[in-house]
Amino acid sequence: MLYIGCHLSSSKGYKHMGQEALSIGANTFQFFTRNPRGSKAKKMDIQDAQALVDLTRQHGFAPIIAHAPYTLNPCAADPQVREFAHLVMGEDLANLDYLPGVLYNVHPGNHVGQGVETGIQLVAELLNTSLRPQQHTLVLLETMSGKGTEVGSSFEEIAAILDRVELQDKMGVCLDTCHIYAAGYDIVNDLEDVLESFDKTIGLSRLKAVHLNDSLNPLASRKDRHTNIGQGTIGLEAMVNFINHPRLRHLPFCLETPGDLTVYAEEIRLLKDAFQA
Ligand SMILES: [Zn+2]
Repeated sequence: MLYIGCHLSSSKGYKHMGQEALSIGANTFQFFTRNPRGSKAKKMDIQDAQALVDLTRQHGFAPIIAHAPYTLNPCAADPQVREFAHLVMGEDLANLDYLPGVLYNVHPGNHVGQGVETGIQLVAELLNTSLRPQQHTLVLLETMSGKGTEVGSSFEEIAAILDRVELQDKMGVCLDTCHIYAAGYDIVNDLEDVLESFDKTIGLSRLKAVHLNDSLNPLASRKDRHTNIGQGTIGLEAMVNFINHPRLRHLPFCLETPGDLTVYAEEIRLLKDAFQA
């Protein structure tokens, strides 16, 4: 079975997202833990969270993904920005305990001129002060496109962060197809090599989710612009190969493409039809 879904708005609550996912043929989805550019978390509605957990179990969903806000920059130079990242992650992880099995997706952040090595160290520090042994949530570092001073655009950088985290069993990786293609990993012509490199550097067993996006920009452009499946430089054939790959096909795939529910329903249908049972 293909586990496929898309990014949904959390404005109407948790259970509503589950119902919306079902209505478009999805069996996983992603949402922001708070306004992507904002700071304030909504008060956790425990009953609503439980209703979503019940719904996802009843319908055999793959793990769902909670995405940290873009404003969270673990490797900022400004100590106040890092303190904010610490606060947000702590609050989010406490809330997400009410959604057991959820994956918490985090961007490693921007080192803003301090250098990659300092960036890596600061992300690891945030994780080491935020993760708790008793938490249920797996934290996923997302592979980035490498725009600006982004950390995490190579498998080596992701591995270097993971290596420094003490609670190893709380960590995983989310691979974004648009980002890695923009970062120079040719999943169109060399998917086997890219996966081999991921496996050697990070370990494919740590890959827990995929952001399935086509890219507006070419290979190694280091630009982060998502587009709809089959309409970008990656193309439909490479996307279909990706979801069918024996080492990837079990993962939850989440679209972060432009559009509304009608567009997502069409993309989900397209990919389900292309998935080899
Ligand atoms: Zn992301």
